[in-house]
Amino acid sequence: MDETAEPVRPAPSEDVVLVKPASTEEVSGVLRVANEYRVPVYPRGGGTGLVGGCVPTMGGIVLSLERMDRMEIDRENLVAVAEAGVTLGKLIEGAEKAGLFFPAHPGDEGAHVGGLVACNAGGARAVRTGVMRNYVRGLEVVLATGDVLRLGGKLVKDNAGYDLMQLFIGSEGTLGVITKVVLRLYPRWESTLTLIIPFNSRREAVRASPAILQSGVLPLALEYVERDLVELSARHLGLSWPCEEGSAYLIVILSEPTEEALYAECERVAEVCSRAGGMEPLVAETRREQDEILKIRSNIYVALKPDTVDILDVSVPPAAVGDLMDRIDEVAARHGIRIPVYGHVGDGNLHPHLVRVEGWGPGDYDRVRWEIYKAAVELGGTITGEHGVGAIRKRYLAMRLSPKELEIMRAIKRIFDPNNILNPDKVLP
Ligand SMILES: Cc1cc2nc3c(=O)[nH]c(=O)nc-3n(C[C@H](O)[C@H](O)[C@H](O)COP(=O)(O)OP(=O)(O)OC[C@H]3O[C@@H](n4cnc5c(N)ncnc54)[C@H](O)[C@@H]3O)c2cc1C
Repeated sequence: MDETAEPVRPAPSEDVVLVKPASTEEVSGVLRVANEYRVPVYPRGGGTGLVGGCVPTMGGIVLSLERMDRMEIDRENLVAVAEAGVTLGKLIEGAEKAGLFFPAHPGDEGAHVGGLVACNAGGARAVRTGVMRNYVRGLEVVLATGDVLRLGGKLVKDNAGYDLMQLFIGSEGTLGVITKVVLRLYPRWESTLTLIIPFNSRREAVRASPAILQSGVLPLALEYVERDLVELSARHLGLSWPCEEGSAYLIVILSEPTEEALYAECERVAEVCSRAGGMEPLVAETRREQDEILKIRSNIYVALKPDTVDILDVSVPPAAVGDLMDRIDEVAARHGIRIPVYGHVGDGNLHPHLVRVEGWGPGDYDRVRWEIYKAAVELGGTITGEHGVGAIRKRYLAMRLSPKELEIMRAIKRIFDPNNILNPDKVLP
């Protein structure tokens, strides 16, 4: 099981054994035997995935990396060297204790670094410093044959041959088992502010997002949310949404080395938004206020979950988000349904939720899903910007990839995993 919405979650096989290795050598030993006897292996991190990626859909071995959770921080080189089972929460805390900062925040702090890299996770704080791929400097990976690869390292530049390391980032446990990761850290930016800018319409808010980025401001996060969703999430957490005005909001997290630079950016964001129809921003300065806003944003998914049939993560070029929203509105109107939408608007990455509709079956939801994917792809985008393909998006992959691309990917899979034992029925259709 993982966090995939229950109506689309694949059924796990009951014919599995759970193995919890404590070292790379033990992972290698397990894979060597599994490969010899052609036994499927399902790598498992924190189980927070949203596409059924770690679910053992056939009999075999669930390989949990949870015991491999050692980490060291190298301040001189600004990196963390973490075993695959280190949680995002532990990574963020460890960096902070060393006076450093890991900016990415892909939602659930229970995710493991191995899983985050395997999914190339994104999250709210990716506008300035990028998704997981942008942090990975080195990887230790165990292949299906048990061979261990040590790729990259603490070095910044490395052009020796093809970049195999990049292939494992986002491979969702199908090419190798990640056992150790070298991740880039940043010096702590002393001054951070969170702004909430209220708007009276979805259109105004979404159109302001590219204008902020064009103005030269580079926020840590640039999120889009709506009043009913943040109020639902706040209620769920026992908190309250701090902004009284507006129905649509941009949440902007700014972080700079000095207060002077921070307030200059803050003014520029307010100016740009005001020209786009935004109202007076709410400025959260204390750590507690800022954490609460991020928490409310991150928990929209959890608050909607009881009604959610599927959570999508379509992504388009950032300036096309307004058009994508319009297309999603058209889909909703055509089917006479509500499609809650929010997301990482600065990255062009939205989360439309398919919610339960009285009398609907899987085919009805599938039509809506298909139409939203089609809209994203037609706008130059993709069917998944962060959650990955896993078990539940395989049949849509050809909407984004050409037959030639799929053929090359299958050939790569055969090179790394000739007996198809690693997460065998995931990602590739
Ligand atoms: C509340 C919530 C909010 C979220 N918000 C975001 C968000 O904003 N952005 C985002 O990108 N994601 C988000 N996610 C999704 C999730 O956190 C990510 O997909 C995460 O990367 C999964 O990590 P995990 O350790 O839980 O992996 P798992 O769920 O255990 O596994 C995910 C996939 O990675 C593979 N895998 C796991 N560990 C390894 C390993 N060591 N080696 C090789 N393969 C491995 C598995 O086989 C599987 O295919 C959210 C999830 C939740 C529940």
